[in-house]
Amino acid sequence: MTDMSWDDRSRLPKDVYWCPRCDIPLLQEECGGCGSGGARVASDVRPVFPQEKRLLEIFLDYPKDSLRNESVWDTKSSNVIIGGESVRLNKGKLMSIDPAEIREALPKDRDEIAEASHTEIMKRFVSASKARFKAIDYEALSIMNFAKDKTGQAIPVVSFSGGKDSTVVSDLVRRGYANQRIVHIFGDTTLEFPQTLEYVDRFKRNNPSIPFLEARSRHSFIDLCKRIGPPSRVMRWCCTVFKTGPIGQRLDGLRALKKPILTYYGVRRSESNQRSDYDAITRSPKISQQIVVSPIINWSDADVWLYIMTRGLDFNDAYRLGFSRIGCWCCPSNSLWSFFLARIHLPRRAEPWRDYLLEFAKSIGKPDPVEYIDSGNWKARHGGQGLPTAYKGVVSASVCGDDPYAKTYTLTRPISEALYEYFKPFGRLDFGQGRSILGEVFIVDKSTNNPVLVLQGQQGTSSLRVKAVDMSNPSLLLQRVDCQIRKYQACVLCGGCPSVCPRGAITNTINAYRIDEGKCTNCLRCISHFDTGCLASKVLQARRGAAV
Ligand code: SF4
Ligand code: SF4
Ligand code: SF4
Ligand SMILES: [Zn+2]
Repeated sequence: MTDMSWDDRSRLPKDVYWCPRCDIPLLQEECGGCGSGGARVASDVRPVFPQEKRLLEIFLDYPKDSLRNESVWDTKSSNVIIGGESVRLNKGKLMSIDPAEIREALPKDRDEIAEASHTEIMKRFVSASKARFKAIDYEALSIMNFAKDKTGQAIPVVSFSGGKDSTVVSDLVRRGYANQRIVHIFGDTTLEFPQTLEYVDRFKRNNPSIPFLEARSRHSFIDLCKRIGPPSRVMRWCCTVFKTGPIGQRLDGLRALKKPILTYYGVRRSESNQRSDYDAITRSPKISQQIVVSPIINWSDADVWLYIMTRGLDFNDAYRLGFSRIGCWCCPSNSLWSFFLARIHLPRRAEPWRDYLLEFAKSIGKPDPVEYIDSGNWKARHGGQGLPTAYKGVVSASVCGDDPYAKTYTLTRPISEALYEYFKPFGRLDFGQGRSILGEVFIVDKSTNNPVLVLQGQQGTSSLRVKAVDMSNPSLLLQRVDCQIRKYQACVLCGGCPSVCPRGAITNTINAYRIDEGKCTNCLRCISHFDTGCLASKVLQARRGAAV
């Protein structure tokens, strides 16, 4: 969408230096505080806060409080920088320590932690990096101004996750628009750190003029895991159900204003290889009719912290504990180290989750469940092998010889009342027109009353004939019927479909998929939103390529 200089990947920051006189990292070679030159120490750093220092003392077997006055910074590798020296943490070995033992040795209360020397170090960091702050701030505001100019009257919305990046973006956007009343949207995945929820509450209290929208799925994450297995790196089904779905639905309310939506995100290229390809301004791949702007796309972690410290912003306390990324605390994309920290700091959440994973590993026949879970191999899982709900991907359909626009399906789940729910997106169900002896049901267009489809099949049997009557594009119509049949056979009520319906017409109760005909506008969005029609059928496929 743009060829502006911020999309030049070669400008990404990759060197952090150290000023021995000021005892701080430098984001340029020369210290802006004392003018000294510095040696390169890392590609990126984040501050280690006083609470995490105590953790490091335990990990490194240093005496208590020996790091209290030290300038300590974490790098993206296994090294920490203490007073300019790189010290290696043997994370693999450390993770074998009992998390309860470590927890016991940590301060129970933040009041027990001395912050004064940390505050001094941060002041020196801010003062030495004024030029860098000016440069990153200028670029972020330029990206925003460009996006604003290109999209005219678009409604700005800040996607607020409670993490450090969205904290920065929120501040930037309110400054850039010189307006505090910018809509913020927070999607509570139900898997948030408790510190995130506390921070969000604080943020709302401290910024009462911000219109703050919240989106939360009504589904239970653990119940769904029991039905379709835990998410993995390749099957992040929960993002749809708990994140993009509810947020998209919430944004649908704003779309009623008939203006484009400009969503500001805190996505950064340095976060991952995949993100290194992102553009600063783009259309959302996940939420339709939405332009996404990432004003801090080129920033490093150190830049984000520099901004927070320079602007004196409040932030999520989970960072003080040593978590470098905040999202869902149990996300399969998190590192093993992050999960180890969760076991130390969030035992009431992390231990039951680990127990569930161990049970899951046993239930799918893993010979060494502890190794499978603790090594993180479960995160590479794909397919529904071993699960009772595994979907074999079997729908056999034959085109009826005499009619190219009719198909006969041999179903793996016998016809029942539940089948008809999946046909409501095509129109109104009309049981009166059909011949009951053949189990015929007409689906009619709600405005013209003309038939769109005719279903034929007795309840309790497995043979269903579907005839396309609407001839505007019968092949496409039958492809859509395939999707709905797939849903009928594989549906485990995962909440995926309710999360994509813009009218809130679909509900998944504990044992039923329902569409409210009164609310459904037959937009067909729910039909093909997931490639094959059903998110769970994809996740639960017993073998790769076993799709219908
Ligand atoms: S756990 Fe990970 S995959 Fe699941 S919703 Fe959270 S971020 Fe998405
Ligand atoms: S049909 Fe929809 S609600 Fe049911 S399992 Fe598939 S995606 Fe989930
Ligand atoms: S997405 Fe909702 S409104 Fe659209 S067809 Fe499906 S149920 Fe109806
Ligand atoms: Zn200096």
